[in-house]
Amino acid sequence: MSIIRVSESIYIIDTLAFGYENCVASYLIKGDKYALIDVGYASTYRNVINALNKAGIDINDIKYIIPTHVHLDHSGATGHLMQNMKNAIVVAHERASKHLIDPKRLIESSKEVYGEYILNNYIGLPIPVQSDKIIVVKDELELKLGNLTIKCIYAPGHAPHQITVYIEEMKYLITADSVGIIYPFLNVMIPTTPPPSFNAEQAIDTLNKLSSYELKTLLIPHFGIRNDSLFVFEETKKKIKEYIEIIKNLRNKNLNFDDMLNELIKKVSEEANISPSQLHPYAVQSLRISLMGILNYLTKK
Ligand SMILES: [Zn+2]
Repeated sequence: MSIIRVSESIYIIDTLAFGYENCVASYLIKGDKYALIDVGYASTYRNVINALNKAGIDINDIKYIIPTHVHLDHSGATGHLMQNMKNAIVVAHERASKHLIDPKRLIESSKEVYGEYILNNYIGLPIPVQSDKIIVVKDELELKLGNLTIKCIYAPGHAPHQITVYIEEMKYLITADSVGIIYPFLNVMIPTTPPPSFNAEQAIDTLNKLSSYELKTLLIPHFGIRNDSLFVFEETKKKIKEYIEIIKNLRNKNLNFDDMLNELIKKVSEEANISPSQLHPYAVQSLRISLMGILNYLTKK
């Protein structure tokens, strides 16, 4: 099932990233019009449109497309969807908007993280969004969707261009990557700490700020719905600190990148009580990127 109605006003869409289920979600909020929060990779934009069609939603009723940040698993499809959703306008952080308008630098840095083959064959390339079709968020921006109020809240740390989306009447928070990765097929959290701009102190400050909101439910892009926000926030902080320490130690032993990655794969598999070869390929990819980001963060410190 690629689209599920979570509540009266919320749908979760599985974008089927790399062809896998339960890895990259998009969320749809239904007021008098719709807001689509996070849109997945460029390569999967048709999956999003198909899912909306399947649920009987007219894509011309999408009023806002809100990529929470410009990493391609969240924003890659934005330009492609804008070509199809004629009445939509994009809402993004002010530091994200320039990358949406001109994705050249974003493509270059994604090439460094994923390699050209995966970028071209699995992720797909973003296309530009017209600058007059973007509303920018600074610290906070409130939007009305009929009887629902959505608040875009600046949430740096994972990336300096990240926002989260709070649905005031429901006390739901669409977390973006302010919280760790919790795949339904793996009972262990992986912190999401990617290059080039992961900042641990900011990530923890952001979680502390978000804790001050009344939170009933978290809608997590990687992946799904959680009603235990306190646990998820605390576990995220714990995992960020734990991984920084582990990676510091691995670096001190002068291991090369692949050996460090294997150590992390071993650690997660042990925690999950599976053999390393059973670890889902997308989880391995997540570990690889988080390792790159922490190494980069430690170098900059
Ligand atoms: Zn991200």
